[in-house]
Amino acid sequence: MSDTVLVTGLSGFIASHVSAKLLDKGYNVRGSVRNLNKGARIVEALKEAGHNTENLELVEADLKSDAGWKEAVQGCRYIQHIASPFPIEGPREREALVPEARAGAMRVVEQGLGAGAERIIITSSLVAMIGQAGRGHKMLVTEDDWSDPDWKALGAYAVSKTRAEKAVWDYVQRHDLQERVTSVNPGLVFGPDTFDNSGASLELIKLMFSGEFPRVPKLAFPIIDVRDCAAIHVAAMEAKDAGGRRLMAAGETLWFKDVADILRRAYPDAKKLPKGDMPNFILKLIGVFDSRVKAILPDIGTLHMADAGYVSALTKVIPRPAKEAILSAAESLKSQGKL
Ligand code: NDP
Repeated sequence: MSDTVLVTGLSGFIASHVSAKLLDKGYNVRGSVRNLNKGARIVEALKEAGHNTENLELVEADLKSDAGWKEAVQGCRYIQHIASPFPIEGPREREALVPEARAGAMRVVEQGLGAGAERIIITSSLVAMIGQAGRGHKMLVTEDDWSDPDWKALGAYAVSKTRAEKAVWDYVQRHDLQERVTSVNPGLVFGPDTFDNSGASLELIKLMFSGEFPRVPKLAFPIIDVRDCAAIHVAAMEAKDAGGRRLMAAGETLWFKDVADILRRAYPDAKKLPKGDMPNFILKLIGVFDSRVKAILPDIGTLHMADAGYVSALTKVIPRPAKEAILSAAESLKSQGKL
């Protein structure tokens, strides 16, 4: 009999790509969703994209409540805990997303380990690593880096990801269960919107085409294609040596200005695409009333690069060039009429 994998938040961008890979590898997939209708739409989209969904079942569970999780984890050899609040516009209150993200992660991890899951992958983020004061103009992020959730400049989303990941590691260390947990910490995720559910991930590309920002903030993060991010999740589950590790899903780093330049060269008729960097003082002014901008202020001016060679060694996944991740995202959004 095939192994069963629980994928939390199956309806999400990364989770649907992870599920596609798991189904293609012959796993049984149990996808948790908080809305069965939305889940059914993704199952249809997976089927339309050519994935065999016979071994895919849906269960209903919300991170905010205990209901459904005990049943969801039953009989699962592995768990991919990917669901977490990821709003396009984060709340201004720094701790607002923490109860949902942290308590949700702990529900899944405690229930899953208790039910005998061999390995639980939790999707954290690079934002749980880079949020430290005094980074300077260049940061080479390593597995040991942790954001400081008490640093006042950190936005609500980064605070939630840091506190949730930390709670999980604290718990497994207390119970000496580190080997059964791995975190995947993705950078900026692009790549194709194959299942029409890209949420906040491809918002940056949509914003660039919309002309809302004629110039871009001076930001630079490692980029990962969603297909490579999904492959790292699956390999993290299967690789013996990945237990207890924090795996950055992070390829080449580009400044946002370079992302815009790649798009402009590929789409010369898209006249609204931004040109050049936005002065920092204007961003700070916008940040006073725009929570999306406020959340990025601490990251401005730093070239964030990932020291992620160990991830390729462990998972055998070599992230594709950022240009491919960017253009495949734009092409899929164009074909859906979203640009
Ligand atoms: P999506 O918004 O597409 O997916 C988020 C998923 O979480 C959705 O399935 C959503 O369900 C689910 N979810 C949110 N709140 C709850 C809740 N209270 N109960 C149950 N499910 C919930 O985002 P991504 O796929 O991009 O993100 C997936 C994970 O990856 C998140 O943990 C995110 O923090 C992390 N990440 C993403 C990055 C990116 O650039 N995309 C970068 C780094 C990390 P529903 O469909 O019902 O809304």
